[in-house]
Amino acid sequence: MYDAKKIQEILKDHRVEFIDLKVCDLQGRLHHLTLPYSEKVLDKLMTEGVGFDGSSYGFRRVENSDMIMKPDLDTCMFDPFREAPTISCFTKVFNTDDQNTPYQYDLRNMAVRAEQLLQKYGIGSKSQWGPEFEFYILNSVDFKVNAHESYIKIESEEQFGFNGYHIANPFDLYDDFRDEATRLLIKCGIPVKYHHHEVGNLGQQEIEIFFNDLLKSADIIVLTKYILHNLAAQKDLRLTFMPKPIYKQAGSGMHLHHFLVDAEMKNVFYQKGGYANLNQNALYYIGGVLKHAAALCAFTNPTTNSYKRLVPGVEAPTAINFGQANRASCVRIPRYVKNPQEARFEYRPPDATANPYLALTAILMAGIDGIINKIDPVKEGFGPYEADDFDPKILMRYLPFSLNAALDALKNDYQFLLRDGIFDIGLIEHWIDIKSREFNEVSNWPSPVEFQLYFDL
Ligand code: GLU
Ligand code: MG
Ligand code: MG
Repeated sequence: MYDAKKIQEILKDHRVEFIDLKVCDLQGRLHHLTLPYSEKVLDKLMTEGVGFDGSSYGFRRVENSDMIMKPDLDTCMFDPFREAPTISCFTKVFNTDDQNTPYQYDLRNMAVRAEQLLQKYGIGSKSQWGPEFEFYILNSVDFKVNAHESYIKIESEEQFGFNGYHIANPFDLYDDFRDEATRLLIKCGIPVKYHHHEVGNLGQQEIEIFFNDLLKSADIIVLTKYILHNLAAQKDLRLTFMPKPIYKQAGSGMHLHHFLVDAEMKNVFYQKGGYANLNQNALYYIGGVLKHAAALCAFTNPTTNSYKRLVPGVEAPTAINFGQANRASCVRIPRYVKNPQEARFEYRPPDATANPYLALTAILMAGIDGIINKIDPVKEGFGPYEADDFDPKILMRYLPFSLNAALDALKNDYQFLLRDGIFDIGLIEHWIDIKSREFNEVSNWPSPVEFQLYFDL
């Protein structure tokens, strides 16, 4: 972590010309504001900040939209997509009152406050998250939507007819792209675990990132998408994180590997001989996440397209349960983990259309609720289910089938998010409102499939 003085030195040494402030809007889209760099400008930014209109970020209504942002110097990096030497950082957002109080809906601050609850409740010190990015790289995408014309035309450079998982050359057309992306990610301080071709044989890719705490991981998710989108744009490729861009091809998830650590960064989920070497607290945590999984979908799977991915037969999760090898489950506990420090579970529902600050914070709140209320996932009937377990007497619970169903689940289950004032009811209501409108907009459009099915009836 650098103090302002150290940053000044680095900036001078590198002849930085601009300072770029990045902020995510409510939907998870990145915005930025660029200032010509000088010591004076940075000092002023750190003390007074810079004003902006928050209403366009989706948080507040227009009549009360003046905000202040200040750089979070812990997140400084050189932006690889700017020609001029540009230092870039995420920001902290404040109100324009005399004390510059933290803005209630500064989602980065909300993530920090949520993680502090681990200490408050004696559960641990930090949460650790390892995101897996799945995405498609396509050759050309053409679509049109208006009142009397709608179509999608997708072209892929890849033309092989078998499962693409880890496929080697000559079929793996974008391994150089992934190498280059990895190089940039590492340069920007994002620790890449590995990359490979994914199952979808029309251009599906995967890049996995190592563990970090909540705020850093959410920042990393935003930056990784920024870097991949920009690199693809430079190469005139069409890269998408849409959860289900192509019918019957594998969807793209953003699975999150997840565990908690104590103040010495020791994994607090491990117990030799426990189920999958996890202790009871880990199971309670999983119980909380599963109990609230349907409501969580409103944040982890927040688009209408998200639910086209969550279908059987393509390794996407559909069942609200847990198991050691079951990819149809929401919670999979990797069998191959032998190192106590890596005891963890994988939460499979999320996709990369989520606002990561909201999604990760909501998952953490569900896990904390599980520990505080001792929600035992076995007693609750969530499993464990292994890959080929099937018991017709067991009533399976499934993830919501649509965004609308997820929003209904959230309407009936949001108290766990309000604990210690982490989420605010106004934010949840606002989210349900904007997402319901989105659902209605999509479902009100006649679609080409409906013409295929019904035109001649
Ligand atoms: N693509 C699958 C999904 O939609 C996951 C495949 C895998 O397990 O990596 O979640
Ligand atoms: Mg994968
Ligand atoms: Mg995975």
